[in-house]
Amino acid sequence: MARLGAWRADLTAGVRSWTWSPELHRVLGTDSAMRPAGEAEYLALVHPFDRPKVMAAHRRALAGLTAACEWRAMSPDGRERRIWTELRPQNEDGGVRALHAVCQDVTERHAAEERIRYLAEHDGLTGLANRAVLREGLGKALAHGGRRRGPSAPLAVLCIDIDGFKLVNDLHGHAVADAILVEFARRMRRLVRRSDIIARLGGDEFAIVQMAADQPSGAEQLAARLQEAMAKPFGGAGAEAASLSASIGVALSDIDAAGADTLLAAAGTALQRAQDAGGNSVVLYHPIMEREARESRALEADLAQAVSRGEMSLAYQPLVDVATGGVLGFEALMRWRHPERGMVPPDRFIGLAEANGSIGPLGEWALEQACASAARWSSPLFVAVNVSPVQVQRGASFASMVERVLARTGMPPARLELEVTEGVLIREAEAALDALRRVRALGVRIALDDFGTGYSSLATLQAFPFDKIKVDRRFVAGLGGGSAQDTTIVRAVLGLARGLGVPVVAEGVETPEQLAALRAERCAEAQGWFFGRPEPLPAGLVTPGA
Ligand code: C2E
Ligand code: MG
Ligand code: MG
Repeated sequence: MARLGAWRADLTAGVRSWTWSPELHRVLGTDSAMRPAGEAEYLALVHPFDRPKVMAAHRRALAGLTAACEWRAMSPDGRERRIWTELRPQNEDGGVRALHAVCQDVTERHAAEERIRYLAEHDGLTGLANRAVLREGLGKALAHGGRRRGPSAPLAVLCIDIDGFKLVNDLHGHAVADAILVEFARRMRRLVRRSDIIARLGGDEFAIVQMAADQPSGAEQLAARLQEAMAKPFGGAGAEAASLSASIGVALSDIDAAGADTLLAAAGTALQRAQDAGGNSVVLYHPIMEREARESRALEADLAQAVSRGEMSLAYQPLVDVATGGVLGFEALMRWRHPERGMVPPDRFIGLAEANGSIGPLGEWALEQACASAARWSSPLFVAVNVSPVQVQRGASFASMVERVLARTGMPPARLELEVTEGVLIREAEAALDALRRVRALGVRIALDDFGTGYSSLATLQAFPFDKIKVDRRFVAGLGGGSAQDTTIVRAVLGLARGLGVPVVAEGVETPEQLAALRAERCAEAQGWFFGRPEPLPAGLVTPGA
């Protein structure tokens, strides 16, 4: 229903006599009985911000020209209306005799247009801005001085990606995944200021432009809060998908960035870095990352061929009985001899393999090699093989892979130990626990590696009955007089493990003093350069043909 009203102002003899049509009262929400229909009353209905343009239109009409404008009416009934007014002067004898105005209520049309614009600019699922809006807002902010160079950069771009979200989708379905995205968007909104921009870039990737905060501390704090928001359970969305983690890349506007796109790409590079590091981390962009990212891609390509080209091998490091000094077993550690780069340390390539999924075949290769070798040792020592959380999180299929390898190699399960880090239970805890239980049921022992370096060590111990705890070498370093604190920590871990009935291995033993301290604390096993570096196996152990 077109809602139209009209007014007419008579200008003869310098008097402005206004008459309103009854419909105009309806259009403006005023009461014809109460309100005298004059210009002052009319202007009082106009939103203060719109008064200048309404008055300008009136002046134009008084000058003999047609005029039109849209304005917001502040009606006595409290409903905000959008009014479209067209003014037509009645010219006579070179002067304006009267003004005719037609007023139309365009509130609904306006709302529809707003809605269309909103839909075009926002993500339909979460209601957050989309990439185009973010780029435009970021571009504007940069143009307004956001790109000042100096110690305090006034603007930060954060790219946020939910770790392992594809798995959430696969395991719990789209409805649960969508509910998590919506809830995360809601939590994010509460963490930013009004002037900041939050956008969903697509899938499970989000970005925030943080304006006018002290940097990098502002972005660091925001990133920490975002991680907290992600770690909180998503209860309503399906209990199994309980808690998740996010990877965050941050770029500040004081880098040599040409514009919004460069800054977004920089934050994306930092995000990639955070993901490569295994997720659940925040990385601040540095220009050197571009070069490193190129290197990583090259390394990744080479890694895909490394096994087939015979560049991979295993080094074995002895684990000894602290009381007797006798060798109990060997830990197999992967070694990659790159044709041009020489030895590439596992810390450099395991993360890459985890990120692109090639850790699956690579880990299986290591397990197979270690078991095939150990099955033929001249003495029944155990072999310990590291497995990545990414492998274990595959659940039952990981367990059956282990079973197949044992069968193929003829390795007795009781002589195999698998080393996992706490990271294994951060994501996909259910699948990981299932895998660990199945493997353990085969008779394989499970050791908790690098104990004390994660942030939920005690919770990890509670979640699964590990057969062994390996105290990280950073706590062993200060034993034997170096650090009273390290001694206290190792003593506490030993007490805890004793209470649980689980033996402890001290990693990274390098000096006789450290060994003496471990002996005094009645630690069961030790490993480190003091006993032997990771090397080819001792000749006597390997039976001919092995
Ligand atoms: P990790 O399992 O904690 O292995 C112990 C690391 O400490 C090894 O580093 C070893 O060389 C080093 N180490 C041993 N004794 C000493 C010592 O006395 N002093 C010092 N400073 N270091 C010592 P490496 O071989 O560079 O391996 C690093 C990490 O890479 C391993 O930590 C493990 O998490 C991972 N890794 C190695 N091989 C594999 C594998 O086959 N699969 C998987 N998923 N990860 C592996
Ligand atoms: Mg290990
Ligand atoms: Mg370790």
